Amino acid sequence: MAVNISAYNNIKNYLDEKHVQLVAVSKTKPVEDILELYLLGQRDFGENYVQELVEKAEKLPKDIRWHFIGHLQTNKVKLIAPFVQLIHGVDSLKLLKEINKQAAKSERVIDCLLQVHIAQEETKFGFDEAELNQVMSQLNDSPLTNIQIAGLMGMASFTENMEIVKEEFQKLKALFDQFPKLRILSMGMSSDYKIAVVEKSNMVRIGSLLFGQRV
Ligand SMILES: *Cc1c(COP(=O)(O)O)cnc(C)c1O
Repeated sequence: MAVNISAYNNIKNYLDEKHVQLVAVSKTKPVEDILELYLLGQRDFGENYVQELVEKAEKLPKDIRWHFIGHLQTNKVKLIAPFVQLIHGVDSLKLLKEINKQAAKSERVIDCLLQVHIAQEETKFGFDEAELNQVMSQLNDSPLTNIQIAGLMGMASFTENMEIVKEEFQKLKALFDQFPKLRILSMGMSSDYKIAVVEKSNMVRIGSLLFGQRV
């Protein structure tokens, strides 16, 4: 399965025009595919599995900005803390505290996104609105100095019904607007990134449209 260069160029032009950042989701894909997009100028790549991310980062150019977009286990944080650019799916205070601790060891401040549960499926991760407010106020009262909450991330329901997807993105945007200090709103994937952009996403995570279907 080859990289779809023309899809990349089209998507990139579309997003640039709207000032939306593209994270190319390369999970399960070989380093050769990543390098192909790198040579076209792409620098932001997203991975879901810690071990895979660490191995790829070792092999690939050092100016790649690696995004961790999967569900992060606290015992794996230390493996990515020295170099990760942005952690998208933070869904507990416990995890934030561990990221803070490991970031301090690397003398870094790591940008994090809090994941919000906007989909209907129970299986998806993230805070609900009340929990989000609670975490934000806890962090306000006792700040963690080696992390920065840079924004919110969410995944819409897996459905053909684009009205539902749109409503879920609107809900996330409304929450995002409640916290004026947040800069990044990470929402939208291959199947729904255009809706996400209309609903004011400023960072999309696109995999299969660029790299082909995963097996
Ligand atoms: C895999 C994944 C993506 C990319 O999905 P595509 O449908 O291939 O674009 C985006 N976000 C998250 C959190 C993912 O796990």
